[in-house]
Amino acid sequence: MRYAETGYNLEIDLSRGNIERVATDPRLTELHLGGLGTNAKIMWDRVPPETEPFSPDNLLIFGTGLLGATPAVGANRTIVTTISPQTQLMAYSMMGGFWAPELKYAGYDKVIFRGKSPNLVYLWINNDKVEIRDASHLQGKGAVETQEFIRQELKEPRAHVAAIGLAGENKVYFASIEQGRSSASRQGIGAVMGDKGIKAIAVRGTKDINLARPAEFIGLSNDVMKYIEHRQKNPIAGVMPILAVLGSPQEMALFDEEWHTQNFMWGNARERKKDFWNKEIEEKWKKTQENVRTRLISCYNCPVKCGATISVPGISTYMMKCFSKLTYTMAAFSDLDFGFRIAQRATEYGVDGYSTPQVMAFALELYEAGILTDQDMPGMPSDNEGRFYWLLDRIVRREGIGDVLANGTYWAAQQIGKGAEKYAHNNIKKHEQLPLKLGMLNPIYFLMYATGEKINITQIEGQFPQSPFPTMEEREEFVKDWIQVPDEKFKEYFLKWDPRGANSMPFYPGVEACCEIVDWMERMHYIDDALGICAGLSSFPLKPPYHMHNYPLFISSGAGIDMDEEGLTKAARRNRQLVRANNIRRGMRRADEKPPEDHWKKRFPELEEALLDGYYKFKGWNRDGIPTKESLKELDLGYVAEDFEQRGIIKDGQD
Ligand code: SF4
Repeated sequence: MRYAETGYNLEIDLSRGNIERVATDPRLTELHLGGLGTNAKIMWDRVPPETEPFSPDNLLIFGTGLLGATPAVGANRTIVTTISPQTQLMAYSMMGGFWAPELKYAGYDKVIFRGKSPNLVYLWINNDKVEIRDASHLQGKGAVETQEFIRQELKEPRAHVAAIGLAGENKVYFASIEQGRSSASRQGIGAVMGDKGIKAIAVRGTKDINLARPAEFIGLSNDVMKYIEHRQKNPIAGVMPILAVLGSPQEMALFDEEWHTQNFMWGNARERKKDFWNKEIEEKWKKTQENVRTRLISCYNCPVKCGATISVPGISTYMMKCFSKLTYTMAAFSDLDFGFRIAQRATEYGVDGYSTPQVMAFALELYEAGILTDQDMPGMPSDNEGRFYWLLDRIVRREGIGDVLANGTYWAAQQIGKGAEKYAHNNIKKHEQLPLKLGMLNPIYFLMYATGEKINITQIEGQFPQSPFPTMEEREEFVKDWIQVPDEKFKEYFLKWDPRGANSMPFYPGVEACCEIVDWMERMHYIDDALGICAGLSSFPLKPPYHMHNYPLFISSGAGIDMDEEGLTKAARRNRQLVRANNIRRGMRRADEKPPEDHWKKRFPELEEALLDGYYKFKGWNRDGIPTKESLKELDLGYVAEDFEQRGIIKDGQD
């Protein structure tokens, strides 16, 4: 019997209209756990590096995690993997909500699409009955309204539906997949779904998941629930409100936006407004938010309620969470009310709430600089908010200049030329980043930005505080109940970290300590992404309920895989190495691993080189960032080393 997982994937060949239920290999679960790990293995085995994002040979994988749908709190992530049209690398965007548990209850761990459908279709998974259905009547429909249309058409109000909007249909490089209470937004995976001709995937499942030792597992889950309650009653002192609690940053519950509005950049990551926040704005924005926020909502089996349903009078309801509350507002130098209004249209279109506002602000900067002219923007309104709506409508339809902008700032700048490249200044690996520009280089963040392959900083960081605490008393208080550290040395690093003086940034923490800290943070994300646990309860917030010490117990009692901390560390490293191997095979190298040039004002090129050298060595990568033969073999990835050798990526003895 298989525990925690179903042991079956659904394979959908869209070109032939073929549907297969395929048993999976339990040995791969032991090696990679599930979720991102097994997704990466499938990508490695079946998507050769020459494959273009919009080739029929590109796969689109919807993977649940090993613990998905079990009673483990927050085990609800879907990991969507494909080759990104924007970065040309392996993307693995995630969504929460209810979709992944429903898929497992239907009897499948993953849905794997290959080929392309000649017509727009949707997939209906109803336990053992799986059909590809015509979706021509849904063409052009919004990503949120499509979900309701399909539920009504199927007469199944309990179906969970993941859908694309117009942006996905038109292969906008930052198109998202929307799914009721969550979305998978980064790196244009919605464009690949559109290219394959899939409008939506509806799923309804009523089966059970087996657990190896259910009583023990449920006991552990209850402990997690108790710890969540404890953390909610005891927010962490000394950090800004959104970092004090669990979950995705609680933007829907909180009103205090001083930190975001004064520290994040406005426009296309252009201008910081250090004195923006005041009592008057706080009152106004609070009222705006209270007027449109219908209720706070959670994902499957989680009490934290990070999201909210938003109902702006006159337009249909949608879901929002986290910093997307401010992305449009700040990109347009506008007001929160505008942010809530335009986000509704953007969600129906199905676009990433981080990249899209930056792309539009970028276009307006080019217009102001005379690089784009009235000829490029015929009929564009003169007011700022009107311009944003105008641009959004054109981007998702790929009309006129919208067709160029739909490729994101990096590719659009290349196409436009005339100096547009210098306006696309906030990308890593060709992908728009959080609009942050700071003063002093932070060596820990430097490494995360440079080497992270999720290409989204908020999903790499988390376990170690973002900055030092001012006094020793505060630090001692913080480390007192810091049970999550995998080793006591992390407490030492934190205690000695000062805001000023010899033990301050950029030279403290030192290279070795930075490598260990980043490795710990990254390891936790790779574990979450394999298990399907929400990062908001594990790798992202400070002092989370899941950590290195209790995760092995969940895996052992849930999946029946004999696991300890060492084994789990090895599995996470194996998955991390395999994700990297996929990208190395596609040409990614050290030269690609750099934060935006103006991310920090104060840069230290020698230190940055030393950090990268140190981290590469720590991870078992050579000077160019390529995993060495030895490190691959240690992680049972000898076949990757062989492939690298055959392709001349590594040469024997030249690691
Ligand atoms: S912590 Fe928030 S984002 Fe995570 S599962 Fe719970 S409600 Fe969803």
